[in-house]
Order: sequence, then structure tokens, then C-alpha cells
Amino acid sequence: MTTAHTPALSRARRWLGQLIDECVPPGHQPQGTADWHPDSPDDYCPRCGASAGPGSVTPRGCAFCLNLRFPWQRITRLGFYGQPIDDWIRDLKFHRRWRYGQWMGEQLAQALASPPLSETDKSETSGGGGLIVCPVPMHRFRRWHRGYNQADLIAKAVAKTRGFTYAPILKRTRHTPPQTAIAPSRRHDNVRHSFDIQNIDLAGHDVILIDDVKTTGATLSTCTRLLNQANARSVHAAVIAVADPKGQGFNAI
Ligand SMILES: [Zn+2]
Repeated sequence: MTTAHTPALSRARRWLGQLIDECVPPGHQPQGTADWHPDSPDDYCPRCGASAGPGSVTPRGCAFCLNLRFPWQRITRLGFYGQPIDDWIRDLKFHRRWRYGQWMGEQLAQALASPPLSETDKSETSGGGGLIVCPVPMHRFRRWHRGYNQADLIAKAVAKTRGFTYAPILKRTRHTPPQTAIAPSRRHDNVRHSFDIQNIDLAGHDVILIDDVKTTGATLSTCTRLLNQANARSVHAAVIAVADPKGQGFNAI
């Protein structure tokens, strides 16, 4: 009896928590934003997203990615994975502060307004199919347990704020351990063959791929390759935070 009731009780508890959040809104803006500013494009490497000092990024990348190849055109971030963004993301993912997803998405939309995305923004008037916003998907079991996919909330807010098309065309086909639960060196294997894409031709479309955090980049790489195989003209990765490749934040969440 107990086992049979556990999922129902868990679901009811989650539903009740969301109802309380609706009735007593925690605010859609996290605490600690008054003195916070998103990074400018000069603060990080546009290829790997790592923090970079003035003059330390060349057209071939930064010290962390000079010899690496990425399937995306560039990456945009709000900041590195540290205070205060790490608290915001933990609250969003694990403490039902799903409203933060909207606020983070609005901030990311503003960050995406800077070049070079503003160039691809012209694709609708240059014969292209326009920009679409696609979230990194979550397996249905985890989504059922959490109640939402945080990347989905962020992507919807980005699309709404910028007037782009929201298109959740990727699917998660395998329920795998969280990336942060395994060693960074095994994360590519963990997500390989875990995603699929709808039968769709993205010819002429530029895609903004949204996730909350980039650590090793394994998930973003897998998803970007699927979008490229569907003929996307370009893929631009956009995340709330990037973990420091020297180690900070790699196993934080
Ligand atoms: Zn780099």
C-alpha cells in the first residue's frame, strides 16, 4: 500500500508546493540581484564560455580551448558558475523557485541582444527561416519528479522577450544519471545516444540552444550535433552560467 501511494503523495506534495508558491509568490526575481550585472561579451571566451581577461581571447579561442573544436558557432552566458548565480540556479532546480526561470530567461534575452546574434537576427529578412529557441530537454521521469524543466522555462522567456519562435524539437530518450553525479571524463559517454530530434528540416533556421549550466559541454555538444544534422544554418548556445574549466563548479550541482 505504501509503495503504491508514494508516487501519488509525492505528486500531491509537489502540486501543493506549487499552489503555495502561486498564492504566496516568492517573487520571480532572486535575491541579491541589486548589485549584480551580467557579463559583457568581453568577460568570457565566445567559443567555450570560460572567463577571460582583456586581450586573452584570440579568434581561435582562449587558453582552455585553442585546440578544441565545438559544434556551435558561439556561446553566450550571464556569468560564471559561482556566487550569486549558483544559489539562484539551485533554488530554480531544487527548491521550486520556478519563477526564477522566467527572470533568468529575460536576462539572457538581453545578453543575446549584443553582437553577433544581432547579425543572425536578420535571417528572416535575408531569406532565412528565422531564429528559433530550443531548450535542452529533460527526460520525462525527471520532469515528472521535478514538475518542470528549468531549461524549458528559460527558453520560453527568451523566446517571448525577443519575439523568437519557441521550438522544443529535441527529446531525451534515455534516463541517465545527472551529469554532476559522474566524473567529468565520463560525461560524454553518459549523454551519448540519450537525445533525439523530431523529424524536421531546419534549413534556413538559426537556432539558440538553451541550458541552465555548461560544465564539460557534453550535453550541449550532443544536442548541437543533432540540430546540425537537421540542417540548422547555425547553432548559438546560451546558458545562465559556465563552470570554470579549472574546476570551480564542475561538481557543484
Ligand atoms: Zn575558450
